[in-house]
Amino acid sequence: MTVANYVNLCKALIKAKLARKNLVQVPKPFRINIAVTYHCNLHCKMCNIWKIYRETPNRARDEMSSDCYTSLFESISEELFWLGLTGGEPFLKKDLVDIVYLAASKSRNLHILELTTNGFSEKLAEKRVSEILEETAIPFITVGVSLDGPPSTHDYVRGRKQAWSRAITTYKNLCAISSSHPNLSPHISYTISRHNAGRFLDFLDALAEEGIEPDTDLISISLEQSGHLYHNVGSGKGSLLYGANTDIEFLLSRIRISNPFSKGIVEIGRNLFKKMFLISAIDFLKRPNKMVLPCAALFCSCFIDPFGFVYPCSVYGEKLGNIRKTSFGHIWHSHTASKLRGSIKKEQCPNCWSPCEAEPSFLLSIPKTLLPLL
Ligand code: SF4
Ligand code: SF4
Repeated sequence: MTVANYVNLCKALIKAKLARKNLVQVPKPFRINIAVTYHCNLHCKMCNIWKIYRETPNRARDEMSSDCYTSLFESISEELFWLGLTGGEPFLKKDLVDIVYLAASKSRNLHILELTTNGFSEKLAEKRVSEILEETAIPFITVGVSLDGPPSTHDYVRGRKQAWSRAITTYKNLCAISSSHPNLSPHISYTISRHNAGRFLDFLDALAEEGIEPDTDLISISLEQSGHLYHNVGSGKGSLLYGANTDIEFLLSRIRISNPFSKGIVEIGRNLFKKMFLISAIDFLKRPNKMVLPCAALFCSCFIDPFGFVYPCSVYGEKLGNIRKTSFGHIWHSHTASKLRGSIKKEQCPNCWSPCEAEPSFLLSIPKTLLPLL
């Protein structure tokens, strides 16, 4: 990461802090999360995305193709630092590599690309990641392979046989690619849900049996969410996660803030974040209706669905506009956006503790957020 990247990120954070106090205009977001497709090849218990095109097949034709993203990436060419691409299963998106190429070529400050995958299409994941590495020079590419094991639990939660074994193969393949591409950092994404809460130690044992070092540094945690992205609004949130505290406390006891001389600054930042995320997750589970940190959604970040609709985040289902019809800049500075920012500040959104928004929220609340880590 160059000095210029740091300076730009710090400037964006300072402007966002001032904007929260209504002292300056809200800067364009430095982080955007996009669900590039709702196609999915698993049938997870805690998410209904996979049902969307089964129930309404015609909607699939309305997904944006890569060229629809041109004006978006041109509009945030200076600001975009961190791009999250999810789905559905993002590797099923035929022109995923074109979308990433477009983002990297239009946004000269893009530093982090974050992809999530269920790992069920091992060959496709390997192919698309290799193409992205060939065609772009994004400094830090992280791919989270979802594993909610141990194996029988994972296959049950994910709704298909072999879900575990195929995800393990995907993870190992990506690790093999990363040995010759230092900018690729695969990790395991573990979602604590009502189906696996309290089983984290069994999960680590299962990883060890697969020959994967059960190193908690390689595992990122999230909590089961209810929100518009997952098409499961009303299915409940933190209060349902009985047993999650045991898993979280165990993880907290294992996290090391890495040696600054042996790992890149992004990795160190991620471990700091992981620790803070877990400390705050315990608070969130105790009081799931109270915001654990002032949320950065619509100050530093936003979410875009496969059809171009812009939302504050993947949970708060209020639409701001559509980038196919209206320029992103206009949507970002619209009256609707400003009203929704007011609701978020007053904690009138559904409230959640999701890593997508927790990371920018953590940065936005520095230095206060660093105190519990000392
Ligand atoms: S959680 Fe992910 S893998 Fe599971 S159905 Fe939803 S989009 Fe598909
Ligand atoms: S707290 Fe959660 S639901 Fe509310 S705006 Fe932030 S990310 Fe969205």
